[in-house]
Amino acid sequence: MADGGSPLAGRNHRAETLPDDFDRIKRRMALLAMSSGAVACLIASSLAHRVGLPNPVDAHVLPILGIGLLVLALSLWRNPPLLPWIERIGWGLLTAYLLAALGYKTLHYPYTHTPLGARTYWFFFTYLLAFLVWPPRGALVASLGVISTIGGLTLWLGLKTRGANIELLSSLIQLIAASIAYVFVHYSFAQLRPQYARMRTLAFSDPLTGCANRRRAEELLALEVARAGRYGRPLSLILFDLDHFKQINDLHGHAIGDAVLRAVTNAVRCDLRGLDHLARWGGEEFLIIAPELSQSRASQFGERLRKRIASLRISGGIQPTASFGIASFRLGETADMMVQRADRAMYRAKAQGRNRVEMERPRTATPEATDVATVTTEETDEPSTALGD
Ligand code: GH3
Ligand code: MG
Ligand code: MG
Repeated sequence: MADGGSPLAGRNHRAETLPDDFDRIKRRMALLAMSSGAVACLIASSLAHRVGLPNPVDAHVLPILGIGLLVLALSLWRNPPLLPWIERIGWGLLTAYLLAALGYKTLHYPYTHTPLGARTYWFFFTYLLAFLVWPPRGALVASLGVISTIGGLTLWLGLKTRGANIELLSSLIQLIAASIAYVFVHYSFAQLRPQYARMRTLAFSDPLTGCANRRRAEELLALEVARAGRYGRPLSLILFDLDHFKQINDLHGHAIGDAVLRAVTNAVRCDLRGLDHLARWGGEEFLIIAPELSQSRASQFGERLRKRIASLRISGGIQPTASFGIASFRLGETADMMVQRADRAMYRAKAQGRNRVEMERPRTATPEATDVATVTTEETDEPSTALGD
């Protein structure tokens, strides 16, 4: 099997990059925002045409913005991985439109005492958006670029009118000051994001072995059981407990016991697939959640892991072994029920002499729990595996 890459495998530490739904939510929101933005732009520009002569920005740039957003929404819909590029281009289009509208007002009516208008509020949306589409430093640079452009317009207006249009000048200065304050507050908050990610990783991982802790395992198990039930996919649990571990502690000391735990998890990780999750379930007890693994393959996998652990040689001549219990998902059962079956199988492995793999007992037909798919149904009926040395 390939190297483990799950957050729980701890090898690639996917937990550090937070395997949450953030990207998926972002994609949906972007799709919704861009398609509704496109419609709003096109309606606004046609209304502007109807009610009278629109200014050139609303006449030409607004429809371009609308069509641009529509094209971006379609591209995102067809090709979701393009999200980072699409949202940056969308940001660029929106910002260009807002600056063009502000520039038109300032350059063409330098002496007119008109307020900046409702469009100005959208600048604050572009700053917020910048922090969603770029890392903090990039967002800061992009936002300061926008603010500098407004600053340039203000300077030009001040010089041209020699301060005569104080109302418009003061509105622009207020806009710049509010923008700077807003962007810096955002920048400060954005700095907290990596810290939050780190705290989350710590909250979900076991400090000794680096694999997931029980809290995270329970969360993932619930997700995988729900997925297996919904799509009728195979799922296996491999629970293993180190044999006579107390003796190792007693004979060699707690620090060596810790080293054994680390060595065992590192060895097991080598055999995990990218899909698998390895978690520390209790003191010297570990759980592997193995999606897409049928019962017969889980049995072979468990046997390979058992041999892998038994072949370890740790300082002081320690040769750890572990007892394994395996259970595969049956339709209608809960995560707890699955764990209980794996646990019972593991205790049977202990009772039958340790350093062995025991499968769940062949199922008895119950109305609430049936096997996931034909393939697993057949496999579930195999006799339980008892693999000693
Ligand atoms: P069995 O084969 O029946 O599982 O016997 P065992 O000795 O492994 O099981 P038992 O439950 O009697 O002892 C487990 C021991 O694991 C006791 C506990 O001190 C030790 N342990 C639990 N967590 C840690 C840890 O983080 N580090 C070390 N060094 N020992 C630990
Ligand atoms: Mg034990
Ligand atoms: Mg134990």
